[in-house]
Amino acid sequence: MSKSSVHKVICPACGAAGEATVWESINAQISPALREGVISGRLFRYICPRCGHTFALRTDCFYHDMERRYLLHLCMSGNALAEQKFSEYFPPNRREQYTFRRIADGPALAEKVHLLDEGFHDKVMELCKLVVERLVASTAAEGRLKRLLFETVDTVGKRMIFVAVRENRPAARLLLPLSAYEQMHRQAHRDGLLQESGTFEVIDRKWALSVAGPGHSAG
Ligand SMILES: [Zn+2]
Repeated sequence: MSKSSVHKVICPACGAAGEATVWESINAQISPALREGVISGRLFRYICPRCGHTFALRTDCFYHDMERRYLLHLCMSGNALAEQKFSEYFPPNRREQYTFRRIADGPALAEKVHLLDEGFHDKVMELCKLVVERLVASTAAEGRLKRLLFETVDTVGKRMIFVAVRENRPAARLLLPLSAYEQMHRQAHRDGLLQESGTFEVIDRKWALSVAGPGHSAG
């Protein structure tokens, strides 16, 4: 089941009061249209009808894909789900072969849904992003990298496409061959990084840096 509630919001730009729909849970199978709203970011944004200012809605939301067996917890409040509540919602005997992730913001949730639905492993993808980051760093002064996100996969050209969000520059597209992903997957598997813990994990750039160590590479 997907669940939302309506909250009063005040536009930080012009002070106009309005009402926003805040999503608390989304089920990918029951509400496929909401998946598109997650991918586009529309569900977690508010556009002020008076001045057009757009801002992120502070949201804590579960995104559940029963077929692909993953549960994502978008946790913008920073209040992690208590184990007791998690157990009521998701008893330990149902957690086998499930992926649980805690996510910090809307763009990270969109990226996660996108890459998991494409059949990628998010841990491997975060390690691939470190490789792409190094490629960006080696290609001269292209503007400081603020964020790197997986965008899509080009199955014809057999490559992954990433978006680099940069300071004072337009976003840039960066490519990495799928063979680099496959190689990284084998290495991560050998290193024992791909097991699931049965509870919520944060898999992001910080995680990748913590396991990659110095000298880690795709080659
Ligand atoms: Zn406004």
